[in-house]
Amino acid sequence: MTQARTFRHGIHPAEHKALTAGRLIERIAFPDEVILPLAQHIGAPSRPLAKPGDKVYRGQIIAAEGGFVSVPLHASVTGTVSAIAKHHHPNGSLADAFVIEVEQNSPQTLYDEHATDWEEMPPSALIEHIQRGGFVGLGGAAFPTHVKLAIPEGKHARWLLINGCECEPYLTSDHRIMLEWADSIFLGVRVLARILGAEKSFIAVETNKWDAIKTLVSRIPADLACELVPLETKYPQGAEKMLIKAVLDQEVPSGKLPIDVHVVVQNVGTVAGIGDFFAFGQPLIERVVTVTGPAIRRPTTLLVPIGTRLSNILEHCGGLTEDAREILFGGPMMGTPQQFLDVPILKGTSGIVCLTEEQVKSRQEYPCIRCAACLDACPIFLNPSALGSLARTARYDEMMDYNIMDCMECGSCSYVCPSNIPLVQRFRVAKGVLREKQARGKAA
Ligand code: SF4
Ligand code: SF4
Repeated sequence: MTQARTFRHGIHPAEHKALTAGRLIERIAFPDEVILPLAQHIGAPSRPLAKPGDKVYRGQIIAAEGGFVSVPLHASVTGTVSAIAKHHHPNGSLADAFVIEVEQNSPQTLYDEHATDWEEMPPSALIEHIQRGGFVGLGGAAFPTHVKLAIPEGKHARWLLINGCECEPYLTSDHRIMLEWADSIFLGVRVLARILGAEKSFIAVETNKWDAIKTLVSRIPADLACELVPLETKYPQGAEKMLIKAVLDQEVPSGKLPIDVHVVVQNVGTVAGIGDFFAFGQPLIERVVTVTGPAIRRPTTLLVPIGTRLSNILEHCGGLTEDAREILFGGPMMGTPQQFLDVPILKGTSGIVCLTEEQVKSRQEYPCIRCAACLDACPIFLNPSALGSLARTARYDEMMDYNIMDCMECGSCSYVCPSNIPLVQRFRVAKGVLREKQARGKAA
């Protein structure tokens, strides 16, 4: 093991991980009903195969992939499709979703044995199989896993980099997975390294999780070319470009992808899920979710069927406190506030963070004092101060000259700003306007 490495810039927000870091993963009881939106990931939504009235089985494909950048959707429970209808989606929209009434007293055994002799399968068949398993990145981005594994002509993957940073405050799902499911992780690493033909794999873990580092180091199989890399604890180290810089000292240029520097990055929870898929055939039908924050009565690390309603989870965790004010899906830096308690857990829902009135009250905004704290924080060396003043006056086109589209919306600049300027919130709006403009330009 080497000394803890890191990237330049970034921030050190309060961690708040002790609420759940020491709690074993706990399985929630199957709810009476699950809601499975067709749009669960980046790319095209899935296309329904099952119809209202159909009996479906846990692990059965009920919607096909909608294209290459898409994956099938599986029933996360055995039951009956009662409807395919519009339902509140965690992204704030109303979206088409399967509603499945769970069969009472069903043993909820898996529909199919997907387990395969993966060592005999060619990489292309393994990639197809992973797509068929419905896998997307479980760290929050929900990008279809097989797409990252299908290396474009003329490029090659030298290294497989497993992201165990979990740098968002509060979240501890990956931490628990590394402590409790090491064998699944290493099987997943084997499969992915074989697909990629990678010469070496790395698992990067921040040093606020020493117990996970020790556990994984003690369990690395002797015949696996895999190194555990401890990283300094810093946000946003889990972002791919930061992680690659920290572990491999490689810069991914603006507009380029990790594969351009011969790296494929996968989240550690995704890798564990893939290990389980090849070990005993379970597609992506459940995930680990950190339910935490000062406004939940019993912070817990939960194993949840995809499609379980937020309300079921809050109830399982003792309910909200009197002063609860906001619920986020994801962490406090990049998470999405929820308006409705009937929204379902999606494949990409890494955490539920429940915050109090005190934590979310808006703070008065003051003029920029040109302190440069935001420049020191930005991990990709943008100028958030200049971008902020352009955004305030809606001079969005000029923001292109300052590389606004490279902003990964990590929120580090807003976090450190002593004037409480909502920088990242303005950058999100600006990027949305610019994207729309680009799309209109292309269509014309
Ligand atoms: S939100 Fe964008 S501008 Fe602000 S620190 Fe992160 S990457 Fe830089
Ligand atoms: S941190 Fe805030 S006050 Fe300081 S330069 Fe940046 S925008 Fe201005």
